[in-house]
Amino acid sequence: MELPPALVEALRRVRSVGAITGAGVSRESGIPTYRGEGGIYDDPEEGDRTVDALSGHTLSRDPDRTWRAVGDLARRASGARPNAAHEALAEIERKAERFVLLTQNVDGLHQAAGSRNVIDIHGSITATRCMVCGLDGELEREALVAIERAPRCDACGGVLRPGAVLFGEMLPVDKVERLQEEFYERMPDLVLVAGTSALFPYIAEPAVVAARAGRLTVEVNPERTLLSGVVGHFLEGPAGDYLPLLAGSFQ
Ligand code: ZN
Repeated sequence: MELPPALVEALRRVRSVGAITGAGVSRESGIPTYRGEGGIYDDPEEGDRTVDALSGHTLSRDPDRTWRAVGDLARRASGARPNAAHEALAEIERKAERFVLLTQNVDGLHQAAGSRNVIDIHGSITATRCMVCGLDGELEREALVAIERAPRCDACGGVLRPGAVLFGEMLPVDKVERLQEEFYERMPDLVLVAGTSALFPYIAEPAVVAARAGRLTVEVNPERTLLSGVVGHFLEGPAGDYLPLLAGSFQ
């Protein structure tokens, strides 16, 4: 497996990088994807139940049910370690003058691999927020995998909500603003998309806009997506194979 020579040449001029990742990157760590073949939501019945339990609507009526579904996701992810793709992105961050990582993943594996400037646009599976006083907190993974009821706030006793964005909920305003600033106002030299079918507009658009503006754009995915015809370089294969090559070519 090799990178196209034109891409290797273009990488020499790159100083700033914006990376965008999704479930495909974590799948190589053994975390099931949500959609797509074999995904959690692929099973029509179980998928619908899971989506329903992980919705803002259910949270407001039956937070215990939402938390049990979060605990189920955490169990599926327990023991997962960062893989070569996570490590490669952390390496690119160390080498680049400026780096930002926009991820849809809530598993914290990018941060565990050493990525620092991360916009986890869908939040984190271990984060909590009090629905009464707004206090932010973290749950231990061991507590999360065994959870049966909605946890309570240490400060006020109110019910805590998951820190992840649930189905039917808006994206967090502060993270959307960071995305705008990092990908649009200070457009990176390279926009690199890996392991996501990029169905959400806010995931696909930074790459589309960068490609139109003449920036270097690269997509790494096992299958073609709607982005593949738009980016400058489509690399067909797993992120764990291609991202280390990209990191190695990066000066
Ligand atoms: Zn509280």
